[in-house]
Amino acid sequence: MAPGRWVWLVAGWAVLSPAQDPTDPKIKAALEYIRRIEPELLEEQVRLTEIPAPPFEERVRAAAYKQVFERLGLKNVRIDKEGNVLGERPGRGPSPRLVFSAHLDTVFPAGTDVRVKREGTRLTAPGIGDDGRGLAVVIGVIRALDHAGIETDGPITFVGTVGEEGLGDLRGVKHLFGAELKGRIDRFVSVDGTGLGITNTGVGSYRYKVSYAGLGGHSFGSFGMANPIHALGRLIAKVAEFQTPAQPKTTFNVGRIGGGTSVNSIPFEASLEVDMRSSDKGSLEALHEKFKQAAALALSEENERWKNNGRLSMKVDLLGYRPGGETPARSAEVQAVARVTGALGFPVALREGSTDANVGMGLGIPSVTIAGGGTGTGAHSPQEAFDTTDSWKGTQRALLAAVALASR
Ligand SMILES: [Zn+2]
Repeated sequence: MAPGRWVWLVAGWAVLSPAQDPTDPKIKAALEYIRRIEPELLEEQVRLTEIPAPPFEERVRAAAYKQVFERLGLKNVRIDKEGNVLGERPGRGPSPRLVFSAHLDTVFPAGTDVRVKREGTRLTAPGIGDDGRGLAVVIGVIRALDHAGIETDGPITFVGTVGEEGLGDLRGVKHLFGAELKGRIDRFVSVDGTGLGITNTGVGSYRYKVSYAGLGGHSFGSFGMANPIHALGRLIAKVAEFQTPAQPKTTFNVGRIGGGTSVNSIPFEASLEVDMRSSDKGSLEALHEKFKQAAALALSEENERWKNNGRLSMKVDLLGYRPGGETPARSAEVQAVARVTGALGFPVALREGSTDANVGMGLGIPSVTIAGGGTGTGAHSPQEAFDTTDSWKGTQRALLAAVALASR
């Protein structure tokens, strides 16, 4: 997941249903059990983190997660066509169906040392928090529901998703909503990262690679033809002058450029990669349109400048698209998660981010991402660390959120 903006809320206390009430005997038993088994959950977190899961190579970790689902007695445990691991826990009735998930993949390439170093309460390893923590919390929720014999109104489908990070482009969760569980998801929760935040706003994004290509030639001998790097420069100059709203925060960044072979050659190719983001669909689409027009205009300007000598062509590749959206703070679902967070005595913080929940938000299906407790530092870096102090709080909150959202 990516960092976002924090907004503080005060949770209401008044309207807890028995199923969400920490003083209800079954709920109380589940919460106590979670505190007791937290050391075992931390061992699971370490074990799963030490199974490498680079982008597009989640298979081995997925197989291990499937075994856990089987051992815990979930029904219809399977790996779908995209590579997600799924298992069902039936409810009293067929609805509401809650998907309760964490992501299997990491940002780290194959060959990264993922062994976990332990010093006191500190666990250090790439992926230990993002999302080793979420994977462990999901296991804790399944175990606590069973231990306390908690029945929910609707079924819960527990999922380990693939492709949450980077160029994975949410491919796992897109497949869940678009194929595997199409039309059957009423509510969606992702447990992602550390702390106790609640992400109810999904930052959408477009990522493109734009390439200009031409004949190329000698810088002196062939002078007088269109130049792909010059076209690229025209495009970057246009992008650099884009105006976007501060609220909702809407951003653009040319993050990579490439092309050319030597200082005295007119290049035959040049390219850039750009990232554009907003939680507001309209603002993102407007920016997207502006960018596409700028790319075409830069091309025609460069071609006209040289009267179509060595005429350039353009190739536009979509590298990624994440829908943006929001599950409103006043919605029953966000209120429920805020309530159970407040009921446990934890501060309620709503934030925006880019997570698996984006896909549900984009479809208007109530979706939130909750953090898994503990304290994390250095996510997406090789120094990523997780402090286990009071990390059980995250599992307890996740349990109450699952029970609340699987209730009518
Ligand atoms: Zn994550």
